[in-house]
Amino acid sequence: LFTYAPAPESPAAAGDIAASHGHFIGGEFVDSSGSEALKTVNPATEQVLAEFAQGTAQDVDRAVAAARKAFADWSALPGSERAKYLFRIARIIQERSRELAVLESIDNGKPIRETRDVDLPLVAAHFFYYAGWADKLDYAGFGPNPKPLGVAGQVIPWNFPLLMLAWKIAPALATGNTVVLKPAETTPLTALRFAEICRQAGLPKGVVNIVTGDGRTGAALTAHPDVNKVAFTGSTPVGRAIAKQVAGTRKKLSLELGGKAANIVFDDAPIDQAVEGIVNGIFFNQGHVCCAGSRLLVQESVQDELLEALKRRMGTLRVGDPLDKNTDIGAINSAEQLARITALTEAGEAEGAERWSPACELPGSGFWFRPTVFTGVSQAHRIAQEEIFGPVLSVLTFRTPAEAVEKANNTPYGLSAGIWTEKGSRILWTANRLKAGVVWANTFNKFDPTSPFGGYKESGYGREGGRHGLEAYLDV
Ligand code: NAD
Repeated sequence: LFTYAPAPESPAAAGDIAASHGHFIGGEFVDSSGSEALKTVNPATEQVLAEFAQGTAQDVDRAVAAARKAFADWSALPGSERAKYLFRIARIIQERSRELAVLESIDNGKPIRETRDVDLPLVAAHFFYYAGWADKLDYAGFGPNPKPLGVAGQVIPWNFPLLMLAWKIAPALATGNTVVLKPAETTPLTALRFAEICRQAGLPKGVVNIVTGDGRTGAALTAHPDVNKVAFTGSTPVGRAIAKQVAGTRKKLSLELGGKAANIVFDDAPIDQAVEGIVNGIFFNQGHVCCAGSRLLVQESVQDELLEALKRRMGTLRVGDPLDKNTDIGAINSAEQLARITALTEAGEAEGAERWSPACELPGSGFWFRPTVFTGVSQAHRIAQEEIFGPVLSVLTFRTPAEAVEKANNTPYGLSAGIWTEKGSRILWTANRLKAGVVWANTFNKFDPTSPFGGYKESGYGREGGRHGLEAYLDV
């Protein structure tokens, strides 16, 4: 048997990771007004990568003031001039993509194959795409001369750190807003490296500000009275708290929250192709994906055949070193997330579902979880209702298309769904009845900057990406 074994990526390719980091405010790296520091670890080794500042309310205040000061000139620039900066940022991201991919993989735990082939190309694509809109806002269909909102306070999660940053910063800048962004506390490093890129691109001081810290820093930012727009991606409970906090202010709000997507396989679907889609749907990025296909709804008559093929395929997945170019499933991002996944899978067993994982070896240190599938799951089980945010698939069955739709919609969430069938009419019939912001047909987890993304129900409101993504940052 021929086995292709390229040399693993070198951690040195991530460039110099300073031992400690301050915030990026007004175009400079500055110390925090407080003395509390947090640590970020490599989840594959548990080694500390760096310390970074726990942003105080005073730090947030300084960053918002810098963004406010920069807003006057930035918003007055012709769109074609703002576009030049965004194009420059996009090109630098491409030039430095290996460095950024390695840095992301060691801070987050995700496989280099994904950071290299998915995250980084999409990050650059978002900046290119929104650069193209900056001088065409009059033609976006919102009426003539739409106006930017002002200072955007943006809070992002740890699962796609640089990509979530791009989703937030690129449309905000293209429309003439300035930003203060807070990255997640377990993955601050690529946001800080992005700050360097802003400097390299000559972006005017204060247009982008990065303040690090945990939820306390995030709350100080979203509560700040001089922030005009709050954009949040993260969990539903925190999104709900932010919605309450913002209520009664005149801030504009968009929320991208959790999901519990159904991947629906009809009996006429090509089984091998569906298996690839199911594997990509739930094991991509260790299942740390808001739109992960975490519930498999399979038509009863093909259940046995599909599950046999799925288990065979799961047995070939390689779990381990994120910097190994052959790795399919990397490390779980944090000890806390591993504990959450473990607790929910234990609940699945306690409620009577049947658990199966391939017998793969896991590394000795770091945070790891085997790809797992639960069969015999009923709709009331916690693993059929709650977001696990890990490499865990819950399998349910259905007999008719109507039953598939009913079960697919039976969660508090409504972010995404997948449909596998050879029949075009069935794709349309089903997609029209699913309460999900994104529906994929015969594919899954495909993203494109031209396409709006966002949820129904507890998955949030507002759309990011595409022309709709501009609207979130404009008074139209
Ligand atoms: P989280 O809600 O715990 O944290 C997200 C961010 O919010 C972090 O930066 C955190 O520091 C900050 N934060 C925490 N408390 C806050 C508060 N009170 N006020 C302001 N900010 C606060 O979520 P997480 O565990 O980092 O991310 C996982 C969640 O994100 C999952 O539920 C996932 O589905 C969701 N997610 C959604 C999308 C989407 O587009 N819909 C994309 C990625 C992730």
